[in-house]
This record gives sequence, structure tokens and C-alpha cells, in this order.
Amino acid sequence: MSQELIVITGASSGFGKEMAHLFSAKGHPLLLIGRRQEKMTEFHLPKTLVKQVDVSDRQGFAEAIQEAEKLYGPVDLLVNNAGQMLLGDVANQDPEEWSRMLDTNVLGTLNGISCVLAGMKERQRGTIVNVSSIAGFKAFGNHAAYCATKYGVHGLTETVRLEGAESNVRVLLISPGAAETELLNHTTNQEMKDGYHDWKETMGGVALDPLKVAESVAFMYEMPQSVSIRELVIAATKQD
Ligand code: NDP
Repeated sequence: MSQELIVITGASSGFGKEMAHLFSAKGHPLLLIGRRQEKMTEFHLPKTLVKQVDVSDRQGFAEAIQEAEKLYGPVDLLVNNAGQMLLGDVANQDPEEWSRMLDTNVLGTLNGISCVLAGMKERQRGTIVNVSSIAGFKAFGNHAAYCATKYGVHGLTETVRLEGAESNVRVLLISPGAAETELLNHTTNQEMKDGYHDWKETMGGVALDPLKVAESVAFMYEMPQSVSIRELVIAATKQD
């Protein structure tokens, strides 16, 4: 059974929850991070530290990682998965929603990287997987701020990949297509929320299974340390 510590942010639902169960079943000790601690505690996974941390709080993030490393040894994989998508048209959307997305999706990802990268470089091993989106390289209507954050995740990942590469550290990107998680629930514009159902019909009514995202992250991680799948794009076959 695997003993390397894995940190998953946004583990309380969706992709992160699937990853938590998958990596736990493979024997890894885990640090699970999210704001709804009770959701993650309910998983009752062995060798798992659950921490209520907002990823935009760099100090809280760093303290959680230090505590997990004392228990389980150095972080070998960090999955920066926590994210928010609040759809809106720029003319009418509350700018506070842009800030929430930027703080979580971009600053949260940078915070995670900054907490683990130096240690990984020193150990000459370690993997960071940033969860971006197809909206990280393709525009969608009413996604301006969300696309900005995910294009940002693409850009920062490619830059940090170069920082890690000379020390044998992998910095990778996964870009999923539409999957039915809690992500859309937080959009406050009901019309845009409802629009998803029409759009889903264009995919033949079949969205991506979140478990396949978790399995893809495991596939990327389980490659030899000398092999980097720099970006993996996964979507329902009928998504355009
Ligand atoms: P969910 O809404 O189900 O999961 C998002 C997770 O992020 C939750 O566990 C949430 O937990 C956590 N989270 C949100 N804000 C914060 C914060 N500030 N600090 C800590 N944790 C936070 O959606 P998904 O599983 O779909 O999303 C996971 C990632 O996948 C996101 O980055 C999303 O952008 C990306 N993605 C999703 C796609 C989809 O169609 N579902 C497609 C492409 C990419 P809590 O509320 O407890 O904090």
C-alpha cells in the first residue's frame, strides 16, 4: 500500500471527493482541505487529516500542511482542486463574485504551490496537479471571470512547471469538461443556471463522470517521476 501523503483541496464534494476516496483506497494518507469540514469528516477515511481551510488563507493552508507532514511525512502530491464558478454577464454581475473566483481559483492555487514547492525541490521529487478547465483555453458565454481564472491557472502552471522541472518536480494540469458536481449550484443568476440544461442536450444529455477525473489524476500521478503528462483534457465525448 502507498504511504506518500496526498493533499487534496476542495475535497468536500465533486472531483475532490472522488479523489479522496480513490487515493485512500490506494492506501495513501491524506490531508483534505475545504470549508465544510463536516462533509469531509463524514467520509471516515483512514490516515486522513481533515482541515477547515479557505485556500485563499495562505497561513491556514501552510499550517494544515505542516500538521499533516508531522503525521505522515512530506507531501508527495498536491491537487489544487478547490474552485468556484459563478456565472454572470460582466455588465450586471456583482464584482464581489469575481473576487471570490479569483481568490479561490487563482490565489488559492498559488498559495498551495507556495506551501509545497520548496520542500519538493529540496527532495527532488513531488507532483502538483492544478485543476483547470476547458474554460481555461476556450471562451464560453457568461464565463468572463471564471475563464479569466482558469486561463490564469493555465498560465501559472506552465510557468511553475519550468520552476520545478530542474529539480525533478512535476507541475501538471488537468482540464475537465462539464461534469455534474456542486459547481453550478453557487451561480446566483437563475436564468444562467437553467441554461445549463439546454446546453447539456447539445452533449446528448451526458456529462462527464467525476470519477473519471479522479482516475485521470491518479493516472498522471502514477507515471514515473521522470514522466510529466503536462496537460490532460477530459470531457464527455459529445461535448463541443
Ligand atoms: P464542487 O463545487 O463540487 O467542488 C468544489 C470544491 O471546492 C468544494 O469541495 C468546495 O468545498 C471547495 N471550495 C470552494 N471554494 C473554496 C475555498 N475558498 N477554499 C477551500 N475550498 C473551497 O465542484 P467541482 O468538483 O466540479 O470542482 C472542482 C474543480 O474542478 C474546480 O476547480 C472547478 O473549477 C473544476 N472544474 C469543474 C468542472 C465541472 O463541470 N464540474 C469542469 C472543469 C473544471 P467547500 O464549499 O466545503 O469549501
